[in-house]
Amino acid sequence: MKNNLQNSNSLVDKKIDWQIIQTAMKTKFGNEIFESWLKKIELIDEFKNYILISVSTRFIRDWITSRYLDQILGIVREHKKDIIRIEFLIEDINKVISKKTDKTEDNKKILFDNENVSFIKDSFLQYNRIDPNKNFSNFVIGDSNKLGFEASKKVSEDIAHYNPLYLYGGVGMGKTHLLNAIGLSLKEKNRVMFISAERFMYQFVKSLKTNEMVKFKEYFRNTDILLIDDIQFMNGKEAMQEEFFHTFNALLDKGSQIVVSADRPPNKLTRIQERIKSRFSGGLVVDIQNPDYDLRYKIIKTKTEELKLFHPTQINISEEIQKFISSEVRTSIRELVGALNRIVSFSRIYNKVPTLSEVKVILKDLLNLSENKVTIDTIQTVVCKFFKISKNEMLSPRRSRYLVRPRQTAIYLAKLLTSKSLPEIGRAFSNRDHTTVIHSVKTIEKLKKEDNELNVNIDSLKNKILYKQENEI
Ligand code: ADP
Ligand code: MG
Repeated sequence: MKNNLQNSNSLVDKKIDWQIIQTAMKTKFGNEIFESWLKKIELIDEFKNYILISVSTRFIRDWITSRYLDQILGIVREHKKDIIRIEFLIEDINKVISKKTDKTEDNKKILFDNENVSFIKDSFLQYNRIDPNKNFSNFVIGDSNKLGFEASKKVSEDIAHYNPLYLYGGVGMGKTHLLNAIGLSLKEKNRVMFISAERFMYQFVKSLKTNEMVKFKEYFRNTDILLIDDIQFMNGKEAMQEEFFHTFNALLDKGSQIVVSADRPPNKLTRIQERIKSRFSGGLVVDIQNPDYDLRYKIIKTKTEELKLFHPTQINISEEIQKFISSEVRTSIRELVGALNRIVSFSRIYNKVPTLSEVKVILKDLLNLSENKVTIDTIQTVVCKFFKISKNEMLSPRRSRYLVRPRQTAIYLAKLLTSKSLPEIGRAFSNRDHTTVIHSVKTIEKLKKEDNELNVNIDSLKNKILYKQENEI
């Protein structure tokens, strides 16, 4: 490993002194947190704009990610401002790798060794990480991701039938999970290359500098399955796009499968050549949408069951809490899973299942995240649009039936999605009394129990309200 570290660091000028970072973390978070969570973090490698650190388990990674990562990044950036993110290596996997790299000098052998995650010393593959825990069988399916799942499955069963497959959707929706699952299911019999677009660019530039372009080309053109994650980050110079375009075509010509993920549809990509975009559009383009309540609940249920298998005595998260998380953590599946992990950590540390009010405290920032962004004004706008009434009508004293329900719905959503008090909500609705607010909330809650259409409408309104804000950021 040593040599390798030096090699891949050759482009980096000033190295990060991990000792200093550790001291800073200790000061920032205090001794207790430092000793329990942060002390054992090791710096594995340092790249142009990110660092790779290792922790011993996925659990610790999730815990650190959900609580301290932003601040750790802040500390690292004080020492090296180029660093914009932190990646993790789980030590168990790490051990497998170092064992393998010790055993053999022949990189190729390790590269195409199918037993485990493939790593080679050569940095081309340093990021060819396929996570065995992100597979098809633990991908939970709902309306918003069904097509993405089916297309990915299809690609794994019938290579080059849909080519390329282009999956897109917002952050934390499961794109990387699906790419990973495709790689996992195909790597037994095929040469799989799983790389982020950022990494592709980095390798390209590095190969140019070190006169290894031939190797680079050969390597990429020799894969059977090329999975490129987050293509929106590809913003390289002409020469690189040229190379990408040719690699892409060469692979399609020889019947290799290409799968690309992005946060937006092909035609919305910026800084990417038109002909590449049109190649993307020429295959199967599938979007993954925001998860609705049902999917969120299904994911929470599944993950809770999974956890129970591992820690049967400790994890007993009540139905009420499961429902609470599913309805309140709406931004992405990543946050949803993160929320559950926090609750599990709490249970393990304090040896008890948190109550609902404790859950609210534990998840405060996640809940605020969506809460802060919602204004009553937004809610009114979205609800009016949905029911095709004007804002003046909504705010007027008129009590026509077609106005009353939308008004009550908006009031109900204001109570649900913002932290405003009843009088504050009343004021935002033309100075209505807080008892009117209570009445509206109660009415909608009651109707929701018997009226399925209302339920669907409210869910869709919630999604619209939350989604709208995401676009505004
Ligand atoms: P993206 O690449 O779209 O930003 P990820 O694939 O990294 O999102 O997903 C974020 C987290 O949520 C990962 O831990 C992933 O395993 C999990 N996840 C996403 N979608 C699902 C799903 N449908 N079922 C189970 N886990 C999911
Ligand atoms: Mg991703």
